[in-house]
Amino acid sequence: MPQDKITDVFATKQRTLSFEFFPPKTDKGRDRLFDAAEKLVNLGADWFSVTYGAGGTTAENTMQTVEELIQRFDIPVVHHFTCIKHTWDTIRSELDRMKNDGVRNLMALRGDPPQHEREYKFLPDQPRYAYQLVEMSREHDDHFSIGVAGFPEGHPLAPNLDVDSHFLKMKQDAGADYCITQFFFENMLYWEYLQRVRQAGVSMRIIPGLLPVTNYEKLVEFAANCGATVPRTIHEIFEPIKDDTDGTSARGTDYAISQAQDLLDRGAPGLHFYCLNRAEPVSSIFKSLKF
Ligand SMILES: Cc1cc2nc3c(=O)[nH]c(=O)nc-3n(C[C@H](O)[C@H](O)[C@H](O)COP(=O)(O)OP(=O)(O)OC[C@H]3O[C@@H](n4cnc5c(N)ncnc54)[C@H](O)[C@@H]3O)c2cc1C
Repeated sequence: MPQDKITDVFATKQRTLSFEFFPPKTDKGRDRLFDAAEKLVNLGADWFSVTYGAGGTTAENTMQTVEELIQRFDIPVVHHFTCIKHTWDTIRSELDRMKNDGVRNLMALRGDPPQHEREYKFLPDQPRYAYQLVEMSREHDDHFSIGVAGFPEGHPLAPNLDVDSHFLKMKQDAGADYCITQFFFENMLYWEYLQRVRQAGVSMRIIPGLLPVTNYEKLVEFAANCGATVPRTIHEIFEPIKDDTDGTSARGTDYAISQAQDLLDRGAPGLHFYCLNRAEPVSSIFKSLKF
């Protein structure tokens, strides 16, 4: 049976719950992911998404994980796809392949160069921005539903916040259906972003991305890599308990519950969790929410 598209989900739901996985590299990691996915489906997940190329994972790994999730669970699965390392030709053939393999949901991204290639230069036969990937995906008419990334604090390389909003509008104009944000810890950043991009003419759903804190040191490193601010409150709560795994998870769960509830209470169109392939703590968080 063909997969539903995320736009089909939007047609019936004002508010959605979604979870992002990365493709596992080992059998143990794979078992953990599918165990988590089963629990999250039972919790009411509307869709899953699987990252592409991030953290050194391979394209085959993403496709394999997407296919297996599609086979095992009756909810849409979003295949992330990036410009990095592709030419216009390879992108076109990958899109054809995905279409033939039954993928109906894409997250169109520029991607980041691998850590050891920070001086990465795009060649003339390569698309260099996500909006170009959206445009190309739309050549398949309405086959794909297309999500894009948004950055409440502005993308680290954007010259300023207004230009950043304009680039999101370009992705919408190219055919994007919705946007998932980078994680953030202060909800004010999300509401200010929403106001800014609405003023720039962006009307698609902007779904907040949340990363529950489970490991303080890794969080600080990860946030630095993607240009997200770790506010003082987070340092003050988690730095003193950084060696206490259970304590960090418990406080991280509490923090995420109050952040998520506040977003929902003020009208956010859903929640997207960066769940790191685990059912906990997101299950506990969700069970405590009035969704
Ligand atoms: C929800 C989410 C999921 C992600 N999943 C993945 C993943 O699976 N794999 C992965 O590798 N990475 C992933 N990323 C990271 C993402 O690829 C990086 O943050 C990347 O640097 C930006 O991607 P983008 O799609 O927003 O790019 P773009 O929208 O193309 O923006 C990239 C940069 O170019 C600038 N720009 C955009 N359009 C133009 C233009 N027309 N002219 C000039 N400058 C322009 C922007 O300001 C920005 O600085 C994800 C990020 C998010 C928020």
